[in-house]
Amino acid sequence: MSGKERLLVRGAQGDLLRLVATGHAESRAQLARVSGLAASSVSLRVEELIDTGLLVEEGSGTSSGGRRPRRLRVSPAAGLLAVADLGAHHARLGLLDLSGVPLVVEERACDIALGPEATLDWMAAAFDDLLATHGPAGVPLRGVGTGVPGPVDPGSGRVVSPSRMPGWNNFPVAEHLGAHYDLPVLVENDANLLAVGEARSWPGFDNLMVLKAGSGIGCGVIVDGRLHRGRGAAGDISHVRVRTDSSTTMCSCGHPDCLEAYASGAALMDALSGLGIATRRPSDVVALVEDGVPEATALVRNAGRLIGEVLTVLVNFINPDAIVVGGSLSTAEPLISAIRAAVYERCLPLATRDLEISVTRGGPDAALLGAGSLLLDAVLS
Ligand SMILES: [Zn+2]
Repeated sequence: MSGKERLLVRGAQGDLLRLVATGHAESRAQLARVSGLAASSVSLRVEELIDTGLLVEEGSGTSSGGRRPRRLRVSPAAGLLAVADLGAHHARLGLLDLSGVPLVVEERACDIALGPEATLDWMAAAFDDLLATHGPAGVPLRGVGTGVPGPVDPGSGRVVSPSRMPGWNNFPVAEHLGAHYDLPVLVENDANLLAVGEARSWPGFDNLMVLKAGSGIGCGVIVDGRLHRGRGAAGDISHVRVRTDSSTTMCSCGHPDCLEAYASGAALMDALSGLGIATRRPSDVVALVEDGVPEATALVRNAGRLIGEVLTVLVNFINPDAIVVGGSLSTAEPLISAIRAAVYERCLPLATRDLEISVTRGGPDAALLGAGSLLLDAVLS
């Protein structure tokens, strides 16, 4: 079983450790170049980081061309990060090392409708279980992070006015987890985590809009390679009003005709239920589409059109390099085609000239890797 311990590194030391952990530098010379610090200053701090066991140096042998530069990396014993991506009915949980490499990832069933205290205590027990089973002896836990399917105030780590999280409004998630662990805690909107994790799979694409289409609809925005949070609500497109031909549908926020009320997985499941077709989760909707059930295909296509029309405004405004679609509905082909059709038809030619619209590349752990990346920042700050 691993213990827990705050990572104590001073300013520039933390910056150098972060550069090595994130793969931006692996030698003293690269660290000096990337950080802008003097070579002597880098050497001194690297020696301190090696002495305290946080960095290790390897590959100091010689090659035919002379002495090979030694390679710095974060010690596997430097610490662990416990991260989760909380969904409506299941959570993905993992332990990462400080370089963001997963030691273990598991998906477990849970129910956020049980409320924040029960859910977060369940999460802490699940983390303890993973640490007891998979945590290497003597390697301390350094931080805890979770994504939640709702808006998060970045200053306080509270969930604010979430749509499908009864009892969570204004709950101090970060404070609750922090009281349990006494370690740095990250609480972030799930689409933002997906965006940060997904950006690792899009080298050369510095401006991304990463849509998460699952039970809800969210969007994470990467600008110049970094997550754009705004004041916390950036990318939250769920309550944008959409144009519909049918009569008004009330959204859980109390306003009529929000995007979420038509195009979220939850809305599609409700609509199918009204047609006498039972589903238990958004992936069931995808399965119905793949089975050629026309009601499901029509609803998903309409959802894609509505999402695409909202994205049209955003593409003209932000002009991203790519729109990346993730979440459990993203594998429904009619959803992506309808989004593409709307965006290519309605956006400015200059905005769509080199625009990629694609499903996620980062794999099922992308959000956890994003959580690890942001949590490392919190641990080192
Ligand atoms: Zn709404």
